[in-house]
Amino acid sequence: MNIGLLRNVFKEKKLSLSHPRLLIYQELSHTLSPLSPLEIFQSLLKKKKKIGLTSIYRSLELFESLGMVFKIVNGSSVKYKLCELENHHHHIVCKACGNVVELNFCDISDWSKKVTESTGYQVVDHELNFYGFCQSCKPLQTLSHNR
Ligand SMILES: [Zn+2]
Ligand SMILES: [Zn+2]
Ligand SMILES: [Zn+2]
Repeated sequence: MNIGLLRNVFKEKKLSLSHPRLLIYQELSHTLSPLSPLEIFQSLLKKKKKIGLTSIYRSLELFESLGMVFKIVNGSSVKYKLCELENHHHHIVCKACGNVVELNFCDISDWSKKVTESTGYQVVDHELNFYGFCQSCKPLQTLSHNR
């Protein structure tokens, strides 16, 4: 999502795109790999831009609630990756290196139907993450299993 689009999303939701929020967003868009709030803090500090960790946390939570970033929780580490897909989508996370790939398909209509059948709920939304091992981590994992 480019800055123009970002401005539009914020305008639509009647949110203000403050300077810190914009800087944090840009920080994420400069890299393809997921970043922790502390990494964003340090990288901004290097550019002589001091933004408090709390406000970085809050901005990232806001971006997440808007579906713009994906939050990767791995034990006690939390990282965020910018979403390239703008519509509803899912992610697969490598359990070894933490790489994330976005999935541009979603086919859980059968599952939704089952949920409705068993609970009577009308399903309106869902969140679902996949976890596994990426191509470069997969052979290593297989090796260590065989040992
Ligand atoms: Zn995404
Ligand atoms: Zn991996
Ligand atoms: Zn889905």
